Amino acid sequence: MIILLPPFRDNAELTDYLELLDMPTIPWDGKIAFLDRDGVINIGSDNYINSPDEVVLLPNVGFCIGKLRRNGYRICIVTNQSPVGRGLWDHDNLHKIHKRISKLLYEEDKDALLDLILYSPYSPWEMAWARKPNPGMLEAGRQIIDNANNNIKNFKILYGDNWKNKPDESDSVMVGDRNVDQLAAENYGVKFFRCNPNIGLYDVIDLILG
Ligand SMILES: [Mg+2]
Repeated sequence: MIILLPPFRDNAELTDYLELLDMPTIPWDGKIAFLDRDGVINIGSDNYINSPDEVVLLPNVGFCIGKLRRNGYRICIVTNQSPVGRGLWDHDNLHKIHKRISKLLYEEDKDALLDLILYSPYSPWEMAWARKPNPGMLEAGRQIIDNANNNIKNFKILYGDNWKNKPDESDSVMVGDRNVDQLAAENYGVKFFRCNPNIGLYDVIDLILG
């Protein structure tokens, strides 16, 4: 059984106004790179990343994210973060971790902006639609990015079979290091690239950009 628990958005309500800056080189044509976080952007840990001090970026990842954006991809982070649901720490701590990641990326490459960060705070046993391998974060990410720079308040995000007019995602990609990422990509309907968690995004950037 799947329960429709929605994703969370870093430092904002899910449907708050989202301002997206212009792309660095070419206008956005609808492509999104959905990226898992741990093992793709930063070094992961079996004990979670619990504080900003524990963030270590994987090699060249800022450059890779900058390169994705220079090639026309919006960046949407989709990360399972069950420590929140397990009560280990709170949403604000997770925001501080994301601020640290964003700062380090920007220091490496001025185009390496994370357009949207979504996370699932739920524990596995909650069976949340927003927790990978389910596709809820990707569904929400697409709709939030498509609604960006638009002052419609509280637009409704649709999930699963309730979302009838899904856009073509044949140019979008998802990158992750685990089976749950691959399953989420398949369940959503987007091409998946698996990276080695010790290498991260740099492992697959040439495959993505051909
Ligand atoms: Mg991962």
